Formats: sequence, structure tokens, C-alpha cells
Amino acid sequence: MIYINPEDKKIKDALDKHSKAIYCLVNKKIYGITYDCENKDHNNDSCLTCKQTSKLRTAVKEDIISFLKINLKNIIVNKPIQLKNRQNIFFEHFILGFNDLELDKYLKCKKKKEDDRNFIEKDIFNRYDSIFTQIKNIFNYDVFTDTSKNYSAYNLSSNLDISTCTYCNRLYTRTVINPNKITRPEFDHWYSKSKYPLLALSFHNLIPSCHVCNSSVKGTIDLSLDEHFHPYIDSEKIINDEIKFSYYNKSLDTYGFSMTHSSSKAKNTIDAFKIKEIYKTHEDEIIDLRKIRDTYSESYLQNLSNLYKGVISEEEIYRLAFGVYLEEAKFEKRPLSKMKKDILIELGIIKNGKE
Ligand SMILES: [Zn+2]
Ligand SMILES: [Zn+2]
Repeated sequence: MIYINPEDKKIKDALDKHSKAIYCLVNKKIYGITYDCENKDHNNDSCLTCKQTSKLRTAVKEDIISFLKINLKNIIVNKPIQLKNRQNIFFEHFILGFNDLELDKYLKCKKKKEDDRNFIEKDIFNRYDSIFTQIKNIFNYDVFTDTSKNYSAYNLSSNLDISTCTYCNRLYTRTVINPNKITRPEFDHWYSKSKYPLLALSFHNLIPSCHVCNSSVKGTIDLSLDEHFHPYIDSEKIINDEIKFSYYNKSLDTYGFSMTHSSSKAKNTIDAFKIKEIYKTHEDEIIDLRKIRDTYSESYLQNLSNLYKGVISEEEIYRLAFGVYLEEAKFEKRPLSKMKKDILIELGIIKNGKE
């Protein structure tokens, strides 16, 4: 997993733009044309989001409107640690007897036909569905992915500018906007949008990731901050120290990855994203790195370094030799950076990060 530093200027700017645009987008859904843009420019003109968003109001109950008047900004910008609580407070306020167990039952019985629901399920459905539907319509993720919008998922991913999948560091996830919106990462909802619809557009709940990690691997696993790393919370030092790639001999010259972890959080994170399983497809990389070690000995980098002394930096030599970045903060820029560094240390080609 890649740590996304919320103190980076680029990330702060992305948060600022996201919060302004989503604030207007949601308010337009609630108030329609009567919403007075809060982010007007110096000519007192409404922001691009307000100018463009359809003027159709969503049917929302008055007391929900009052709640959002006070809480909307926080819902968009809150840190992960506050988000779950925010959703709970909201639903506890609007649904009599709301709790996690019932919520799971609601999500299950929602898939059933009305006639197939038993008495208890009918009761839960009646209490939960109207509120959930209203919140889903207001915090509408599909509108956010609409490429014709002035501010959409493309803008968020471009502003975040994370080059590889946050979860696996295996695939490029760069955004191409010009001349057309061609490609962008998917956004994984750390708190799933089916269970946490209030958080469907919250900045820290939208994790740029590859398709594999977002849909096939993670699916609907319920992640929790106590049991899994979160890319906006757990520092790169923690993530990189507690999760390590290692290799073992399968047969004469074939190798496999093994993963080591030094906390249950690290283990759960590896398991949730099937890191060990999906890295199977990169076992040939180990063969190459072993070849370097066996052919050039452990002083491979030292030899290169002597050759280019004063011409290029040690960092650059590492990048040219292995195609990845040495610095942990730059792991996101190239696929497989984390894995290669761990294996290179294990092979003795680099010493604990610096050589
Ligand atoms: Zn606006
Ligand atoms: Zn991925």
C-alpha cells in the first residue's frame, strides 16, 4: 500500500478543489436553482459546477436538509477516523433503532423481492430504505463519474496525481484528460458506498486504485481502521516497515514471493488486497534481480556508482538500474517500487535503503 501524505501541497490543493466542487454539487441537488453558489469568482459569478449541474432537485425531507446545512462540509472533508462516526450519527438520528447488525440485514433483504421478505425484514426495510435512497441520490457517485461535468472523478485523480495503484503499486493509474478524458484510476470507496452512502463523495474515502484492487479483489470486504492500513493515515514508514516482500526458491531457478508482516494490521491488509496472490504474476522479476546478484555480485550498484561518480546521483543510478524509485515517498511513481526494494535489500544489492 502507498501512503498518501495529506500534508503534501498537491494533496491539500486537491482536497480544497474537491470540497468546493462537491459542496456545490450536493447543494444543487438539494436546492435546485434556488441554491446560491458559495464559491463565486471575483466577478460574483457562480462556480463552474453550479453553472453546469442540472437544476433538477432531489426530493429530500426537510429535516435531512437541516442536518446537511450544518454537516455537509465535514462530511466531505473529514479525516477517515471521523467519517464512520459521522455516518452513524446521521443514521442514528434519522432511523429509529439504527445499528450495524440491522444495516447488514437491510442491505441483504434489499436484494430480495418484496414478497420474499419476512416480517422482520419488512420492518427493517421500511425504516431504512427511504432514508438510504434519499442519501444515495444526494451523494450520487454516478454523477461524480460523469465525464461531461466540469468537476468529475477525472479532476480529482488528476489533482491527486498518484501514478500507480495505491493498494498494489503494480499498475499505472495515471490520468489523461487532454485532449479528451481517456483514462483515470478507479476510486475505491474505503467505506463501501452501499453500506456508507453518506461517505460516497468524501475526499478521504475515495482511494485512487486499479480495477483489480477496486472490484475483483476487494469487492465488498468491510475494511476497518482498527484492522487495516488506510493510505491517508498509516505513514509510509509504518506501512513499509510492517509489510515486506521476500522470496523463496520454488525449484532450481524459479522463485516465489512470500510476504512478511510485523502486525495484524499489516497481515489483514495484505490478505484483503490479495497482495501475495496477485504478485505471483511478477515472479519473473525475482529471476532478473537474482541474475544481477549472481552475475555482478552484491557490488553491482557500487560498480555503477564508481563508473558514474559525479555525473549522476546514487538515486538516479538506482532508478536507471532497476526502473523504480529508491525513496519511499516516491514509490507511487513507478510500479513494483516497494517489492523491488525489499528484494534488493534481501539480496544484499542495496543496504537497508541506502547504498
Ligand atoms: Zn458553486
Ligand atoms: Zn491495485
